Amino acid sequence: MSTLYTNAKLWGRSETSVLVKDGLIAQFGFEGEADQTIDLQGAHLLPGFNDAHVHIWKVGQLRTTTLDLRGIGTLPELFEAIKTRLLTLQSGEWLYARGWNEASLAEKRPPLRTELDEVAPHNPILLTRTCAHIHAANTLAFQQAGIDASTPNPPGGEVHYQNGLLLETALGLIQKAMPKPSVQDYERWVLAGCDYLREQGCTYATDPAVDPPLLQAYINLAEQGKLPIRVNVLYIRRPDGGKDTYPLPEPYEHPFLRVKSVKFFADGGLSGATAALSVPYQNTPEPSQGVLRFDTEELYDLMLEAHLAGFQIGTHAIGDRTLTQVLGIYQRLYTEHPTDVRHRIEHFGLPDPEHLKLAHDLGVVVVPQAIFLRELRVNFERYLPESFKARCYNLRQMLDAGLTVALSSDGPVVKELRILEGIKTAMHEGMLPENNISLTEAITAYTLGGAQAQQQEHLYGTLEVGKKADFVLLSHLPAHPESQILKTILAEEHPS
Ligand SMILES: [Zn+2]
Repeated sequence: MSTLYTNAKLWGRSETSVLVKDGLIAQFGFEGEADQTIDLQGAHLLPGFNDAHVHIWKVGQLRTTTLDLRGIGTLPELFEAIKTRLLTLQSGEWLYARGWNEASLAEKRPPLRTELDEVAPHNPILLTRTCAHIHAANTLAFQQAGIDASTPNPPGGEVHYQNGLLLETALGLIQKAMPKPSVQDYERWVLAGCDYLREQGCTYATDPAVDPPLLQAYINLAEQGKLPIRVNVLYIRRPDGGKDTYPLPEPYEHPFLRVKSVKFFADGGLSGATAALSVPYQNTPEPSQGVLRFDTEELYDLMLEAHLAGFQIGTHAIGDRTLTQVLGIYQRLYTEHPTDVRHRIEHFGLPDPEHLKLAHDLGVVVVPQAIFLRELRVNFERYLPESFKARCYNLRQMLDAGLTVALSSDGPVVKELRILEGIKTAMHEGMLPENNISLTEAITAYTLGGAQAQQQEHLYGTLEVGKKADFVLLSHLPAHPESQILKTILAEEHPS
């Protein structure tokens, strides 16, 4: 029933012991007897990490069935990787790969349709860029999807048949021709993704784009008691590739699964120059200011329905043009229909001072990714207008504006999913040195920030009496060169 941890360095506290009773933190500095006593031998005990935006199932997919192209440095290497994978597939079977990034390729360009035809003459293939907003395909893939040079662009997307690229919602056109993953496929991927996050010290994570079959997989796993960490989902309302809108989900609450939020994509990504800016990007093949995915009134109507039904809204919004649109809608919702529900903005890449102030005044939680500053920096340097670089993922400005910041990895957009590395980038790798934040701020954003983003800070995110005993044990504090995850513990696992 009770476990006493002694000889611990407790994050944010001066005591050296903590008593856990029935999975809850019961007392600090306890000196009596417990059912079980564990000597931590000076290890650091922190609240479990919370990755507030990570595509859990895709992380699992890349660890099981999808070909991983992240980190590949040249097109010939990329073609070799495809050929090797093709050896394991039947003729005609789809090959799905993910993770290329033209800015990291020596050739500084995506693979072409005709090149992919040579590499894969008998298999349809789809290669998703690391951002998941741009995709390269071969001719067989286009044929099976019924796409040719005369196919018009779908709303919110573009088909570039000649070079073989699909942008934004155009993905949906090709996905229709691909075999649909089953709920069992999703379950396998979710488990693989959760296992990996748990190894990184995560006790809670948010999957930021969940459709109905994926949601079913999460519910199945939660009800069978199989989820290795807690999961919060942002349920997607408008999938790529069409005008269909999924109905609002049933709210669902379980100690390991929270379904009370919906997700919208309002623009593209910064690394591929598709986030919507007020000025043109640099170095794009054609002049571009990115793509707004929604007409403002349509987005307002969709959000209003969720807002009135009591759902939290999380919106992918990166460019300044998008932040103006989305914060404007949030402001209307809060003014017309006041509520205690805190809406979120995912990424929040390029806010100007007015966006920062408005987000703060509305109580909006922001969910940026410090690790982008390392892995996608070459893209930011290449595509961002000079005047925007200093404010790109500027965590210092966000905290100084009084915003609640929940840090996250957005894996597998980046290869580096380790939270300890995310903390280091937040502390040391801002676009300018003055954008960096402190160790305490970074840890807070990866613990309490995540709990606040889910409106569950009464249960998670700090070491306080009454909160769940979800812990991560570390050999040294994060950012120390020898810092290692020793153990991840969830409240339910304390012996009873
Ligand atoms: Zn994402």
